[in-house]
Amino acid sequence: MTLLLDRPTGATRFRAFGPRQIDDIADRYGLSPALRDGIALLAHVLPFRVNEYVLDELIDWTRPEDDPLFRLVFPQRGMLAAEDEHALEQLVRSGASTRETAALVKRIRTGLNPHPSGQQEYNVPVHRGERLPGLQHKYRETVLYFPTQGQSCHSYCTYCFRWAQFVGDPSLRFAAPNPGRLVAYLRDHPEVSDVLVTGGDPMVMSTERLSAHLDPLLKIGSLQTVRIGTKSLAYWPHRFTSDSDSAELLQLFERVVAAGKQVAVMAHFTHPRELRTTAVRTALQRIRSTGAVVYCQAPMVAHVNDRAETWAELWRAELAAGAVPYYMFVERDTGPYDYFKVPLAKALELFQTAYRTLPGLARTVRGPVMSATPGKVVVDGVEDHADGRHFLLHMAQARNPALVGRPFRARYSPDAAWLCELEPAADVPEDIRAAMQS
Ligand SMILES: *Cc1c(COP(=O)(O)O)cnc(C)c1O
Ligand code: SF4
Repeated sequence: MTLLLDRPTGATRFRAFGPRQIDDIADRYGLSPALRDGIALLAHVLPFRVNEYVLDELIDWTRPEDDPLFRLVFPQRGMLAAEDEHALEQLVRSGASTRETAALVKRIRTGLNPHPSGQQEYNVPVHRGERLPGLQHKYRETVLYFPTQGQSCHSYCTYCFRWAQFVGDPSLRFAAPNPGRLVAYLRDHPEVSDVLVTGGDPMVMSTERLSAHLDPLLKIGSLQTVRIGTKSLAYWPHRFTSDSDSAELLQLFERVVAAGKQVAVMAHFTHPRELRTTAVRTALQRIRSTGAVVYCQAPMVAHVNDRAETWAELWRAELAAGAVPYYMFVERDTGPYDYFKVPLAKALELFQTAYRTLPGLARTVRGPVMSATPGKVVVDGVEDHADGRHFLLHMAQARNPALVGRPFRARYSPDAAWLCELEPAADVPEDIRAAMQS
């Protein structure tokens, strides 16, 4: 396999590499046999996908086992429960049939909770008696839109909960082949001001395809903002600079802006290193020159970015690039959760430590935020009261708009890592208590 080797420097044609290329990756970047074998084993359950930009410009190959960017994209030992990893290893070593392996893989994956927080059940809207696949309408003003052709990414994050969509289990897929039903829905729902195009990553689509999804939205007067959720700035900034249709992509953004809508690129940056390359800086400049605004968000995950200095540097780098720090998420209960989870108390402490060092213009960031069933719950602080130590929280977004912005308390716990593990204080009003327990 020479794909990885015969590459003139500077060439930027996108090619993805996965488990079948692990030996070539190991040879080229000097991975130890132990690391290589661990990746190959875990990849049965957690598919990986990388490209040359990620391999060449993001990962530090001097100590891959300690490198946050390496852990971000390569599945490794320790990410699955020990008994699952063991069972998988025994089975693969025994030379089991593909069918036997597939059955175990399926069982392990099902245990990884691919649809946390009622993603699939609660949020799919019904319009004129029909469920609309590929749409989610959770918060009054924002509809999520999942185009069929955007259900992949330029590289996969090991912590992602959307892997279920990528691995071909049709019961786990939900996506829209075209925007016809979205347009009809928006016409009947003028309260929706924002469409958030998401995936996967909508930027894996060609500009032509993306235009086919976006152009029909421009005629809808009540739509104000087209948001595009993407990690392409981190994983493939060439999408905006040197891909064959990157100029047309920037023209599409300009067209949306010219139609009187905002383009908000919701960029997923996990680590400050993702903002250091020439390619990403150029990409950010080009995007901004179209009139689009870049907002940044990412989860805090153990082994990757659970340090205050990492976040302080990330938010400063975003601000310096003209982007807006927006949300720091709490990792949710899905995928290799025990490996990546960070307790709320720790996430809050790291958030606050980093936040205090920021210039005011970077204090646009909110967090730590749990994107939970009732809404986006922000942990604001810890306070000692006569009745004990408590977390202070509020909802930044809620299915029920009456809950937004009202402070409430929950009993402090050093280990709680999600809303369902919090015990509401005695004085929490009934509507908020009910939401917390939904
Ligand atoms: C986060 C999120 C939004 C957008 O929320 P904002 O606070 O407006 O950024 C919309 N829909 C869903 C389902 C979300 O999780
Ligand atoms: S880029 Fe986004 S959707 Fe894709 S794997 Fe990473 S977190 Fe998941």
